[in-house]
Amino acid sequence: MDTLRALPSVHQLLEESEAVAMVSAHGRPLVRFAVQRVLDEERASGAVAEPPMRWARVERLIRELRRPRLRPVVNATGVILHTNLGRAPLARAAAEAVARVASSYSTVEFDPLTGRRGRRHDLLGELLRYLTGAEATAVVNNCAAAVLLMLTALARGKEVIVARGELVEIGGGFRMPEVMRLSGARMVEVGTTNRTRAEDYAAAVTPKTVAIMKVHASNFQVVGFTESVELKPLAAIARQHQLWLLHDLGSGALLDTTTYGLAAEPRVQDSLLSGVDLVAASADKLLGGPQAGLLLGRADLVERVMKHPLARAVRVDKLTIAALGATLDLYLTQSFDEVPIWNMLRASADSVRRRAQAWQSRLAELGVAADVAAAESTVGGGSLPGERLPTTVVAITPRQGGATDLLARLRAHEPAVIGRIVEERVLLDPRTVLPGEDDAVIDAVAGSMS
Ligand SMILES: *Cc1c(COP(=O)(O)O)cnc(C)c1O
Repeated sequence: MDTLRALPSVHQLLEESEAVAMVSAHGRPLVRFAVQRVLDEERASGAVAEPPMRWARVERLIRELRRPRLRPVVNATGVILHTNLGRAPLARAAAEAVARVASSYSTVEFDPLTGRRGRRHDLLGELLRYLTGAEATAVVNNCAAAVLLMLTALARGKEVIVARGELVEIGGGFRMPEVMRLSGARMVEVGTTNRTRAEDYAAAVTPKTVAIMKVHASNFQVVGFTESVELKPLAAIARQHQLWLLHDLGSGALLDTTTYGLAAEPRVQDSLLSGVDLVAASADKLLGGPQAGLLLGRADLVERVMKHPLARAVRVDKLTIAALGATLDLYLTQSFDEVPIWNMLRASADSVRRRAQAWQSRLAELGVAADVAAAESTVGGGSLPGERLPTTVVAITPRQGGATDLLARLRAHEPAVIGRIVEERVLLDPRTVLPGEDDAVIDAVAGSMS
């Protein structure tokens, strides 16, 4: 009772000068909410706070609410397409293109030449057709949406043949069998986990079959006694039985990864040249653009798919189109070194080592001892599974507390620096740290070691 009586009212507190200042900075409803919350806490705990403490608590509460949840971090993990950190960072040109259309009206569904309605999914059609050789293309929300849409629009109530070894989970609960079930297509599994032959497909065709689906093994490798059917023979079987060949390609590579010293990752162009009728691919994996899904292939199929009502539910946002268009423009002019992920993928072992050594000496000047060590970067994000790029990391042994504590302190820095732990040391890989972020890494480490 005494506690309750000692508590001021929300109304009284909002009259005080501290409140007036906060109201002008944050607006009255938010300040009222925070004051109410703090009073509730005091009432619940039975401890009446001194005014300065109380106002400090109100301020903290407001700051916490207003803190941006989505904010830039420095990726020093060495995982290039780190899904939890947003996969591909955009090229500067792409970020600028987003900024240009973000705060104005745009031509997203409007053709300024005719003044008529345009089609957003086809806004980048000419570019994509030029770059991939596809007859027609469409852009949707992501590759998962592209696959679901393609199966729903083309195979609902029909049979689709898929190899058992390709009934994969891509991550984040995206499981091929479930997607097929959701689309209403009946999945006909053929072969075994490790081996599927051409005859398996041919033998599974019934009058209800409409398509063969090929799913790219994006995030795992099957090694040992294995056999699978390549796209070309699959296309032949599909043609022979008048079926469509659908391909969930995933990574969306437009460049030949082998010319960068990497393992081969099938390109969109290769898939189309092999006779695939419709390909689904991601735009934020090896393409290095924003989150989006690409559908590429036969014009009649793209048309049919994009007329399905589900297409509206997975349509792409104008900011994404802006970013994707500007990213594709870099491919048009072969300015690949302006696509951040390709810069990271092709960074030589030497250049990464020099950068790690530069970090080491800058840290030494600040009194922080660090080692440089050989390690491996990975591609991640469901692309080039098993591919490891030799790298040089800066390895830091914490002075006090464990490596987990140091990692947490680096995360608490602004901007957060994300590393990894190997054998009680924190490893920071320069390969995935963008040019211009070196100072942030040095500051974070120096600040976390004092
Ligand atoms: C990554 C991937 C997907 C999902 O792509 P999102 O763009 O993340 O929706 C689907 N299929 C394959 C084969 C993939 O590699």
